[in-house]
Amino acid sequence: MNTQSRYCPLTGTQGKKVDGATVKSMLSISLRTVQDGQYYFCRDSDCKVVYFSEDGQQLFYVNDIRERVYQKEPDNPDVPICYCFRYTPKDIRLQLEATGKAAIIADIEAGIQEGQCACDWRNPQGDCCLGNVRRFIKHL
Ligand SMILES: [Zn+2]
Repeated sequence: MNTQSRYCPLTGTQGKKVDGATVKSMLSISLRTVQDGQYYFCRDSDCKVVYFSEDGQQLFYVNDIRERVYQKEPDNPDVPICYCFRYTPKDIRLQLEATGKAAIIADIEAGIQEGQCACDWRNPQGDCCLGNVRRFIKHL
């Protein structure tokens, strides 16, 4: 077991390390409450905690975040799955039905190629959405 692992104090879900800059850019509340330490992202859809501190003492909830969080509402077609290029599950579903293939993936890849993505500041999970998009398309 990785000694870096931390578990959500509410659900026990293994947290994903996120950069402090991600937490700061995502919060809609005063940053005066942010500690100068490591934060983790809780991806459990049944949990209202989005970020928790390393010591588990500080929790930021879905209501403290500027964005709707894809992992917290995976069945909501209007919550973005790609935060840099603003694709929702509904966009992807419609495009798949219309064209039978996922041009959205190609568009996201082109955006990444051109340096237009900013996943660490725009995506609550703090990194690229492509894994989520691919998983979603596979699931359809
Ligand atoms: Zn949690």
